Amino acid sequence: MAIKKVWIDEDACTGCGLCEDTCPDVFEVDDVAKVKEDADFDEFEDEIREAADDCPGEAIHYEEE
Ligand code: SF4
Repeated sequence: MAIKKVWIDEDACTGCGLCEDTCPDVFEVDDVAKVKEDADFDEFEDEIREAADDCPGEAIHYEEE
């Protein structure tokens, strides 16, 4: 299944930066993580899943179709 939407639960994000290290083409972290507007979810599907699995706050969510 393809990932069609990715979002961050900002209340759960600690701003640790791990998601940006894992996939800087999709995530950027300032105080909290954000999903880049032009992110290509198809190209970085594996990295998005890895970032969500590894997020210490379980703050990364995605929707598949
Ligand atoms: S890995 Fe999780 S807690 Fe860390 S910056 Fe990214 S979304 Fe926030």
